[in-house]
Amino acid sequence: MSRIAIVSAMHEELRALLPLVEGVRVERRAGRVCHLGRMCGRDVLLVLSGIGKVSAATTTAVLLDGMDVRALLFTGVAGGLAPGVRVGDVVVGRTLLQHDMDASPLFPRYEIPLTGRSRFDADAAMSDALAAGCDLVLRAPHAVLGRFGITEPPRRHDGLVISGDRFVATTAESQALRHALPDALAVEMEGAAVAQVCADFDRPFALLRTVSDRADDAAHVDFGRFIAEVAAEYSRDIVQAALPSL
Ligand code: SAH
Repeated sequence: MSRIAIVSAMHEELRALLPLVEGVRVERRAGRVCHLGRMCGRDVLLVLSGIGKVSAATTTAVLLDGMDVRALLFTGVAGGLAPGVRVGDVVVGRTLLQHDMDASPLFPRYEIPLTGRSRFDADAAMSDALAAGCDLVLRAPHAVLGRFGITEPPRRHDGLVISGDRFVATTAESQALRHALPDALAVEMEGAAVAQVCADFDRPFALLRTVSDRADDAAHVDFGRFIAEVAAEYSRDIVQAALPSL
């Protein structure tokens, strides 16, 4: 197996990486448009998963079953949950959990029934490569951050990212998630689904999320603009920095 798949939920998140694919060839699978080619000396496949756990799971299964993919890198945006995880920071998801999985009392809350597992780990070496890429990119100040009122230098966080089929956009809901899962750094809608499918296929993955909002009442403000102007550029630069070591 040869390719590294680079997957995002939304076009805005992948937009800056697509022009870097050399010798691009397009293949369609289950409605997904896969861009195959070379990037930083690696064979790559770039694709949009669509939003939410089912879209992400279908995309991951399609890639791992028939597209010659040896490892998967998910890149996108997320809502910050833990107190120090601010807009403009970057999170490397080392462990993933589905916060809306609840078959209790038949199974413990969050456990995927009949697997005995609620948490799925990202690949350590790939995550380390992403973390090193983050440090390199975050060191250079990003001029546009000031326009979003971000004055503190952005930081990298590593740890638990939680996923569910909800855009978390109220302070009440983000507080409830913080209370239920105090070690969760950020919330998004795809990562844990990708993690579960990669575990089924025994294939490594890593997850990179730029914090676009605080998953509170203001989460929707500037969301699209932030992805286009900040997150897409971070994804491009961090993935480019990490790819040679993947
Ligand atoms: N308003 C957007 C909706 C995108 S849904 C639109 O018009 O397209 C949010 C996407 O960003 C998902 O792919 C999810 O993974 C991520 N995300 C960012 N912030 C989030 C939050 N606060 N809660 C859940 N997902 C979030």
